[in-house]
Amino acid sequence: MKKQKLCILGSTGSIGESTLDVISRNPERFEVVALTANRNTGKLAEQCARFDARLAAIADPALQDQLANDLRQVGSKAEVFSGEQGLVTAATLGEIDSVMAAIVGAAGLQPTFHAARHGKKILLANKESLVIAGEIFIAEARRNNADVLPVDSEHNAIFQSLPPGFESGLDEAGVDKIILTASGGPFLDMPADELCQVTPKQACAHPNWDMGRKISVDSATLMNKGLEVIEARWLFHAHPDQIEVLVHPQSIVHSMVEYRDGSVIAQLGTPDMRTPIANVLAWPQRIEAGVKRLQLAQMNDLSFREPDLERFPCLSLAFDAMRAGDSAPAVLNAANEVAVEYFLEGRIGFDRIPGLVGTVMEQVPLVPLDGLDDVMEQDRVARTCAMEYAEKL
Ligand code: NAD
Ligand code: MG
Repeated sequence: MKKQKLCILGSTGSIGESTLDVISRNPERFEVVALTANRNTGKLAEQCARFDARLAAIADPALQDQLANDLRQVGSKAEVFSGEQGLVTAATLGEIDSVMAAIVGAAGLQPTFHAARHGKKILLANKESLVIAGEIFIAEARRNNADVLPVDSEHNAIFQSLPPGFESGLDEAGVDKIILTASGGPFLDMPADELCQVTPKQACAHPNWDMGRKISVDSATLMNKGLEVIEARWLFHAHPDQIEVLVHPQSIVHSMVEYRDGSVIAQLGTPDMRTPIANVLAWPQRIEAGVKRLQLAQMNDLSFREPDLERFPCLSLAFDAMRAGDSAPAVLNAANEVAVEYFLEGRIGFDRIPGLVGTVMEQVPLVPLDGLDDVMEQDRVARTCAMEYAEKL
């Protein structure tokens, strides 16, 4: 069998490490060619040595020499690149078949977009890329015959529950609705007046999933589900009215598709990202992922309920941004990234996140997006606005 050659953008993160774990269980199928990280040169070098990568890229250009040193120390001969251009080089190497896009935030857009432009198979975890530039990104992927396979557990569940050929339209596929499930996060049942006191540590302690800090906070505000609604719209060519959210605190049913005839098809599994990662790595085949099997007989409660939009307004803000279209989702995302960073640094309260995002959305005018430059400009404008407001809080 010809090995699938991979680049992992963000290999030192939670998704990046889980990806390497699945690869290490299936060494006959995969070859790791390029790995990238933001600042953790030590971990990146160690991964390069362990998987014999031939290229390493560090996003922070000031750390290029440090990375070269660390690679030498662990006996890796990987070629060193840095900065945004270094990430793009890693993601577009001629020999690479697939790119795992696992950078967090808008910073993932450029390298992932260029990988699509080069016709690479995109294994997409970096949801923010689709939120801020969904239409442009999907069009670029189509133009270059780049498959985009969803890693996000909900979208991977939907991908597995849709029929082949759904790309030509959900109506033709007989689909009425896409139902995204949400765990509800660690504060699902916390009274609204206590949300002001929660700490970054509490917000990052998700009840079912072990994830990076930014997505953990997003899960706690339900902004993560909001971003996923917009992500689903572009991945599955859905009309905004076709997407619904249901809170399912057990995180066993990872999402569902409702068909015209009343059938509901769902994908279930233990909450472990190695399942969707293995699914996209081997698609359309199936491989070992190292995941615990579901013990349905030992579960006495799988429950579903409507989300509480009053306590978790971020979800409403995301629906508003999706319906407004144009630059609104990019502005929503940028404001949220700033708000989450400020919260994690202890500079604003958890309960201030939705207000900050909502204010920025009111302040930054809606404009059409004609290309990546427009997206990055709106991202910049919204970040500046968000920081100004955050400083006043
Ligand atoms: P993480 O914080 O654990 O890892 C992020 C990775 O991106 C790290 O390797 C880091 O070095 C790199 N990175 C961070 N900032 C960067 C920058 N400015 N430039 C270049 N590289 C940078 O995050 P994660 O939890 O692995 O999430 C990664 C993406 O996957 C996010 O978009 C997240 O929403 C999505 N996702 C994660 C999970 C999960 O279970 N962790 C589930 C679904 C989707
Ligand atoms: Mg998800």
